[in-house]
Amino acid sequence: MSNPHFPHLMAPLDLGFTRLRNRVVMGSMHTGLEDRFWQYGKLAAYFAERARGGVGLIVTGGISPNRTGWLLPFGGTLNHLGDTLNHRRVTRAVHREGGKILMQILHAGRYGYHPLQKSASAIKSPITPYRPKQMSESDIQATISDFARCARLAKLAGYDGVEIMGSEGYLLNQFISRRTNQRTDAWGGSIEQRMRMPLEVVKAVRAAAGKEFIIMYRLSLLDLVEDGNTWEETVAVAKGLQEAGVHLLNTGIGWHEARIPTIVTSVPRAAFRSVTARMRQELTIPVIASNRINTPELAENIIASGDADMVSLARPMLADPEFVLKAAAGRSDEINTCIACNQGCLDHTFAMKRATCLVNPRACFETELIYRKTATPRKIAVVGAGPAGLACATVAAERGHQVTLFDAAARIGGQFNIAKRVPGKEEFHETLRYFQRRVEITGVTLKLNHPVNQGELEKQGYDHIVVATGISPRTPGIPGIDHPKVLSYIDVLAHNAPVGRRVAVIGAGGIGFDVAEFLVHDRADSAPQPVDDWMAEWGIDPRGDTPGGLTAPVRTPAPREVFLLQRKTTRVGADLGKTTGWAHRLTLQHKNVKMLAGVTYDRIDDAGLHITIGCESRLLDVDNVIICAGQESLRTLYPSATSNDGPRYHLIGGAQHAAELDAKRAIKQGCELASTL
Ligand code: FAD
Ligand code: NAP
Ligand code: SF4
Repeated sequence: MSNPHFPHLMAPLDLGFTRLRNRVVMGSMHTGLEDRFWQYGKLAAYFAERARGGVGLIVTGGISPNRTGWLLPFGGTLNHLGDTLNHRRVTRAVHREGGKILMQILHAGRYGYHPLQKSASAIKSPITPYRPKQMSESDIQATISDFARCARLAKLAGYDGVEIMGSEGYLLNQFISRRTNQRTDAWGGSIEQRMRMPLEVVKAVRAAAGKEFIIMYRLSLLDLVEDGNTWEETVAVAKGLQEAGVHLLNTGIGWHEARIPTIVTSVPRAAFRSVTARMRQELTIPVIASNRINTPELAENIIASGDADMVSLARPMLADPEFVLKAAAGRSDEINTCIACNQGCLDHTFAMKRATCLVNPRACFETELIYRKTATPRKIAVVGAGPAGLACATVAAERGHQVTLFDAAARIGGQFNIAKRVPGKEEFHETLRYFQRRVEITGVTLKLNHPVNQGELEKQGYDHIVVATGISPRTPGIPGIDHPKVLSYIDVLAHNAPVGRRVAVIGAGGIGFDVAEFLVHDRADSAPQPVDDWMAEWGIDPRGDTPGGLTAPVRTPAPREVFLLQRKTTRVGADLGKTTGWAHRLTLQHKNVKMLAGVTYDRIDDAGLHITIGCESRLLDVDNVIICAGQESLRTLYPSATSNDGPRYHLIGGAQHAAELDAKRAIKQGCELASTL
């Protein structure tokens, strides 16, 4: 019987020798746990939770077939029989929950962060410090054998198959592209010769692992780099892979070195589904859509409309391991939606930290952050329904405590209500929708429009009082700060204060960048950008008629001139997220925002903002000066000392520490505290 809520998404997929229980693939993500054998217990728990959550097919993070293929020094490899013991813990845990799991074989090629790396040609990538050696004929043969051995060992370890990583600019992608393959032997030249390497790998894997073993290949449909492949070439590779015995074609968009964002929050949802749809028409094997698919409604629509046979959700599975179960039960409003911020996942991976998730701090910490039912229910007051307070209140209530959540405002969300108005941050709505539903489900008593006064809660019999009152914006002591042309970011983002044609933004932190983004767009309604406009702005040719799918960008001028200023002499925006900061900086550069560092603010008057940079004094004759100069903790409710017979006080989120606070820390602190009460 088909599922009444998402009939296409929940329909099984028969591969002949095996059946997948639905159309949802958990895409490969590097968590950091797969690199160390002693972390495999945690890795098994992480995957088991997702298998229990109903996902149809799981793909592990990348495992290298040999040391040359390492992504990072001493990264996870599978090239000895002994290694299969660790992997068995993972496969057993997944199978116990009724799931299926593929191991991704990833050879990083010139993307390896180590000096042993080799590639098709000796051409250095712009994102790694090492120049690769060109693979010799015997290197190529040995690499093909290593892929085959890796697949054979994966089968021994109990995996249901492998995904061969051939997209995002890794080794096999390097072979098929003229950008990185300039060989003059039989492995370079025409597309038929350039694609020999992936085809030989697939054939060798198939021969080594036998017929009843899933082979999925991830192919880059649009490279989004200069000298990338054309659509015609990509279709030729896909058809070759199908003929060589691939069962499922997963898709990727853009190489890691591409200067076009493909997964950050400003990328419209499912922006690349039309590209997948075109490829599906060329093949008979199932094709999988990926990139920025984060709701079951969208996933259902992609499959129902025939754009793809399956959908790959990677980060959404970090955010909510029960995505599939909730959708299947018609409870999609309970899904904790991935907001594509990259703050807990990819930014961690690039900083060589264990991946997790901003909206779900349990991700990859399943054995450490545990929400056990309490044996001693307590009466708890949480003051402040921003991310920190919401996380704390809902987890405490889920554990069985009696929780009352207060907020002075008329709605929950704190600063997230301001953040969601920034163009490209529309996804923040979803986190508020999730928490609103969690408050209802967990039985938190919500008291809005209720500013809590000092001492008000003392005599109410609370065992714990959690102060999560957030921050107040900092007002810097610049002469003229009271001038009518001065506005705070709250005036602009929350209260729609009118802003003139020339503007100076004081402070170039995350909020300064967001305010600049708001000012250079005319989308005051906070509606997501239409896909066609977004593609045109970034110069993407979705038909792939040009090499790499690149075309001339169409840039609309900003409605106003913006100066973004900081006192530090470092590069403006240097502290933004590793995997998102470059896209924020580029967007503002495209809009001609002038970024100035090393600024001293002298005064503000009718003429504008007077500044000094080095020895040079300047007047910025602006209509408005917007202050985004950081924040200070608001914690007047937190007593300096607590008596032994009164409630115990706790301080979390911005109220605890405002500097460099982000929602990741706020939510994590809320959850961690609630798990201990
Ligand atoms: P807050 O969100 O400030 O919530 C505090 C709550 O307490 C408020 O609702 C307030 O009304 C209530 N309150 C205060 N005093 C009382 C009282 N006496 N009685 C009752 N209620 C009271 N973070 C990220 O990680 N990523 C981003 O991309 C990001 N973008 C942002 C963009 C903008 C424009 C802004 C403004 C912030 C952004 N942030 C971002 C920061 C993030 O929103 C904050 O880190 C987070 O909201 C802090 O959570 P909190 O719960 O500690 O405080
Ligand atoms: P912030 O990142 O700390 O930036 C504050 C800015 O104000 C800095 O540029 C600082 O630079 C300047 N400043 C500090 N004191 C000043 C003073 N007295 N006079 C003039 N300028 C001063 O804080 P924020 O931008 O308010 O953001 C708050 C938090 O929200 C951030 O820490 C961030 O984690 C989070 N956030 C994240 C994102 C994201 O995309 N990830 C987006 C928005 C917000 P100088 O000292 O060099 O002038
Ligand atoms: Fe999604 Fe952000 Fe969580 Fe990563 S950290 S999974 S992008 S919500």
